[in-house]
Amino acid sequence: MTRALADRYGRVATDLRVSLTDRCNLRCSYCMPAEGLEWLPDESVLTDAEIVRLIDIGVHQLGIREVRFTGGEPLVRRGLVDIVAGTRAVSPDLEISMTTNALGLARTAHALKAAGMDRVNVSLDSVRPESFHAVTRRDRLHDVVDGLAAAAEAGLGPIKINAVLLRGLNDEEAPELLRWCLDRDYQLRFIEQMPLDAQHGWSRMEMVTADEIFASLEKEFVLTPATEPRGSAPAELFLVDGGPATVGVIASVTRPFCGDCDRVRLTADGQVRNCLFAREESDLRGALRAGATDEEIADRWVAAMTTKRPGHGIDDPTFLQPDRPMSAIGG
Ligand code: SAM
Ligand code: SF4
Repeated sequence: MTRALADRYGRVATDLRVSLTDRCNLRCSYCMPAEGLEWLPDESVLTDAEIVRLIDIGVHQLGIREVRFTGGEPLVRRGLVDIVAGTRAVSPDLEISMTTNALGLARTAHALKAAGMDRVNVSLDSVRPESFHAVTRRDRLHDVVDGLAAAAEAGLGPIKINAVLLRGLNDEEAPELLRWCLDRDYQLRFIEQMPLDAQHGWSRMEMVTADEIFASLEKEFVLTPATEPRGSAPAELFLVDGGPATVGVIASVTRPFCGDCDRVRLTADGQVRNCLFAREESDLRGALRAGATDEEIADRWVAAMTTKRPGHGIDDPTFLQPDRPMSAIGG
């Protein structure tokens, strides 16, 4: 029988974000320090089979309807295509997607589609090589552009692009990025920078707000609110120049949408997190490796949801950034 991943505030999680690794081949300054991080030891990372088993439990016992692979960078995980195939075997109806920086996607897009992936979200903060390098500390814009083209060609659409704007680096580039995406039929969404970087460099005063992003876009485009209901989707959608193309803004900081959250996260080392900003986690790996039954693991997972807080509390004076950075949680 299916139970629900319900919390004390009436929200039910049906969207599972699965981090496949905490490692990455870029060093986006809002995410990681230039020297990288101390990576999780190999033995603590879930195996391909363990990941598929947990997804199976989530789907068949706990009402999960959508799985998004993330990281770190999911494309650096060797077993990615097999994990996707194993996940597709769990359910023909499950929506399977991935958030990726697209480095190497040109080589694997077709295999991912054949394994059962539905679509990809690609992170791209600038289409100028010098700004791309300034944000990511790597000279790899051409790989992202090639990866995007391959994903579109393989049928991994509709392709969404996630962009973070940083003051003084790429904050003047919003209209240019939107035009580039419109020309290629990619759906662009801007994400407000959140306090989740390992080096604790985020500042409320410095971050580029949704209002600033609108003001910048409206210098070149006419934006009107899209009429379709937003539901639990984090992005507020706007028609660009009357539509049908849209642009989204995910205002996690200045207009939080925690009341509609339907997400739950599984880290690469098998910990359930009921929120990006949770300060506690529930260990499923230990139970899995100690021989727990599917039922027992499902019980732990259900219990993990009861401590989900009503909101992230970034603006509270008592706010504390989680110990794990975004790359180790799974964005
Ligand atoms: N490496 C993949 C990528 O970049 O798409 C997947 C993992 S990454 C942590 C997932 C998303 O989180 C990316 O779109 C990235 O831009 C976003 N992200 C990372 N750190 C962030 C921060 N401090 N604030 C807002 N978004 C952030
Ligand atoms: Fe890597 Fe994604 Fe973090 Fe950038 S945002 S450093 S691509 S994990």
